Amino acid sequence: MARIEMTYRERVLAVFNKQPYDKTPIISPTSVATVESMKIASAFFPHVHTNSDAMAALAATGHDLLGFDSVTPYFSIHQEAAALGCEINWGKKDRLPKIISSPLMHPDDFIFPANFLDRRPIKTVLQAIKNLRKKYGNKVAIIGKVIGPWTLAYHLHGTANLLLETILEPQTVRQYLETLVKVPISFAHAQFEAGADLLTWADHVTADLISSKLYEELLLPIHQQCNRNIQKSGPIILHVCGNVIDRLDLFCQTGFEAFHLDSRNDVHTALSIVANRMLLTGNINNPNTLLNGKPEDVRKAVEFALDAGIRLISPECALPLWIPNRNLIEIVQATRTKHCHVKEELV
Ligand SMILES: [Zn+2]
Repeated sequence: MARIEMTYRERVLAVFNKQPYDKTPIISPTSVATVESMKIASAFFPHVHTNSDAMAALAATGHDLLGFDSVTPYFSIHQEAAALGCEINWGKKDRLPKIISSPLMHPDDFIFPANFLDRRPIKTVLQAIKNLRKKYGNKVAIIGKVIGPWTLAYHLHGTANLLLETILEPQTVRQYLETLVKVPISFAHAQFEAGADLLTWADHVTADLISSKLYEELLLPIHQQCNRNIQKSGPIILHVCGNVIDRLDLFCQTGFEAFHLDSRNDVHTALSIVANRMLLTGNINNPNTLLNGKPEDVRKAVEFALDAGIRLISPECALPLWIPNRNLIEIVQATRTKHCHVKEELV
């Protein structure tokens, strides 16, 4: 039996450790920042991306305002790219950052900077994690995030260039991936040292960018190597948006503990593929349900996920910034209410 009242952090980690837990955890593998939360915390995009106090303050709204069991301070997917020389438009209050130019022409030209962890966009995340650990002690789970070598390669080299080379020069792409992988490995270790409990590994190897065959050849061995290198420090959630059913079996072979599932995938099919090899989280639709839906739509989506067998509730991807907080609070309330009905099964 689970203890009657666990801390938020304990119940998140219990699911990963396959131990009993008292309530189904609600987590945020990617950003749950909203404009509404920014106003309440007085911490706004784009300032939060490069200021650790503001980043931590906005991340804290995920728990303090919304009631999630975790907080996640890295809101975009651009901190590493910014630290490694991409020109970035940091966006606005209601717009995520965007890459303006990619500096890398060939993998041979990449030099991993000795001071990478001290560069501002990286240091901001590390310091925000430290701040959050200090604020919450061991009560709330802190989720870090790194950008995997595939996404990093198209950030640094340009998406069109990289996609063309997967067809014309797969050896060059392999060299990019093998060269760039030291970036997320270094950043992952630093985030765990700063106080992260678990980590999202965002690598957008979705079906519209890379075939499952190429994923298996080029990236799966690298993901396996990363997992072996990092897993001692804490659990990893792989995040890939879009349709991934044709490669979900390969994701299970990475060794990563969990996968963050987009609602474009059928949850029953996904669960039957992963069986007990990986935890699944996510699948609550962002644009239709969370942005444009009513709280009762959110409740139905949560109940559907719980009934299907999802045991870590979360939105499917980084949130559109105008999502009303009441819909996010409803995720938590619906999970807690539903849990009361299925308590015996969960513990
Ligand atoms: Zn995503």
